[in-house]
Amino acid sequence: MNPAGFLLDLLYPPKCPFCGRVLERGEESWCASCQENLPWTEPGQDKQVEGCSSCLSPLWYRDGVRSGMHRYKFGGGRGHAELFGTLMAQCLHDRWEAPVDLITWAPLHPKRKKERGYDQAELLARRVGELSGLPVSGTLEKTRATAVQSQAGEDEARAANVRGAYRVLRELDLTGRRVVLIDDVATSGATLSECAAALRRAGADSVVGLTFARAR
Ligand SMILES: [Zn+2]
Repeated sequence: MNPAGFLLDLLYPPKCPFCGRVLERGEESWCASCQENLPWTEPGQDKQVEGCSSCLSPLWYRDGVRSGMHRYKFGGGRGHAELFGTLMAQCLHDRWEAPVDLITWAPLHPKRKKERGYDQAELLARRVGELSGLPVSGTLEKTRATAVQSQAGEDEARAANVRGAYRVLRELDLTGRRVVLIDDVATSGATLSECAAALRRAGADSVVGLTFARAR
């Protein structure tokens, strides 16, 4: 390790993104306990989302996964995209055999992206693209700032909150394309469903969702 890296590790010791514990020697990216105990989904437990062929997620959205996502989105932990995206790429590789042409994501509204400094779904999409070798491209835009979906309440309210809030970028033609649509968490599925509908209107042949975690 170079001297600067050593100093940085002393000042800011790397922590497990899920439980927040300082990593021990030999632990990389996340702690051994979380590696064993995270709530992994089984292949048959993928969420059904309207407009998507399926929605794959490696993890259930609870316990450490929930806190990890919170650190990633609200705690400035943008670096967690590397590990989270790796787990998503593995899930896609293990559970999706049909051909894919393109990876895209459900974008933040530009205002929200500016506040946060990054778009969490975009960083995940870029990491999945890097590992899978599939092209990544921004195809959607959010046309109005909606209430934060995690605060929008029941499924019905969530669906109303995002209805008509996404469209594909101007004049984009996706005819015949088979798309992987990425988001951070699938709760009601309303965001994925809206985005999938917009992609299909632009000609996409199929859309499969891929999120880091899913709610029950
Ligand atoms: Zn941990």
